[in-house]
Amino acid sequence: MTKTLLLLPGDGIGPEVTAVARRVAGRLIAQGLALQVEDALFGGAAIDAEGAPISDETIARAKAADAVLMGAVGGPAWVDQPFDNRPEAGLLKLRAAMNVYANLRPARCFAALADASSLKRIFVEGLDIMFVRELTGGVYFGEPRGIETLENGERRGVNTHVYTSSEIRRVARAAFELARTRKNEVVSAEKGNVMEAGLLWREEVQALRDAEYPDIKLSHMLADNMAMQLVKNPRQFDLILTDNLFGDILSDQAAMLTGSLGMLPSAAIGDAGKPGLYEPIHGSAPDIAGRGVANPSAAILSFAMALRYSLGRADLADRVEAAVSAALDAGARTPDLGGTMSTAAMGDAVLAKLG
Ligand code: ATP
Ligand code: MG
Repeated sequence: MTKTLLLLPGDGIGPEVTAVARRVAGRLIAQGLALQVEDALFGGAAIDAEGAPISDETIARAKAADAVLMGAVGGPAWVDQPFDNRPEAGLLKLRAAMNVYANLRPARCFAALADASSLKRIFVEGLDIMFVRELTGGVYFGEPRGIETLENGERRGVNTHVYTSSEIRRVARAAFELARTRKNEVVSAEKGNVMEAGLLWREEVQALRDAEYPDIKLSHMLADNMAMQLVKNPRQFDLILTDNLFGDILSDQAAMLTGSLGMLPSAAIGDAGKPGLYEPIHGSAPDIAGRGVANPSAAILSFAMALRYSLGRADLADRVEAAVSAALDAGARTPDLGGTMSTAAMGDAVLAKLG
């Protein structure tokens, strides 16, 4: 049966990089992949055209699709809007509607990039870490929250770090399932020494492992120690499970060990059988938007993750990833990688290797 990919190009370099991912999808479709690619307005582009960052219709189409691939949202044109009418609010709304609670972020080094002298400083050869970050709970969403003025005139900002056992277990399950396709190892990070939700996190992850995943080697690490270990000896990690807050910080940190923002894809997935949301980790990059120089690799690799985790085609995901790797081996480089290729030329180089 033909599957559906909903493309949400978004703002800034989003449309530029997703155009290349669309060409890669088109090539596979021409070779027999049963996929239909549709698109919809999202982010600032949707605010300008429809008055809101995402319409109810687009949300319904995202939930009905097999996978959603987005570019990036946001930019200087919309920063002065009230939060509910900012591009970023559209993204939070979409994530909540799709119930994608597990954020998969690979931090992986491509061997060819070790040669690019500008990147050598931070490149950690052979690094291949998968982060599984809880995405829809924790301190970013906990109630009560807000800024209040006290009787003595002082102002107080409040956020609440809260997790329920089911929120912890569903993301831990996603991590354990993924670990079975990798090295059967999970390191879980929290601050159970000072945070109650962190202590519950540790207990629930361990209990699920003991009850259902005895084949997985599980260890626990305090998040601050993990920040240190990621710099000291990052190759000790294969799969890292974290909450929303620590995962935000630690996965960004690990990402920078690999070289460039332009190379890094991500996925957000929920319950089995439900569509995942795939996107490059980079933003809309207003500083280079419209110049045709953005690196499309993260968008292409995000499409590969969609093939692997939502479209049931791990074989094609392997082929797309190998094509990106081979293009880099052959010297293909956009300016962020120290080269001079345009976005389209980088896409051509990947397509040439895809065959
Ligand atoms: P956001 O808040 O949307 O995450 P950000 O402020 O973190 O955005 P990005 O938009 O990710 O920033 O850009 C950070 C820097 O990295 C910018 O200088 C941008 O030009 C560069 N950059 C990001 N993505 C790419 C890419 N695909 N190719 C080349 N350079 C990129
Ligand atoms: Mg950012």
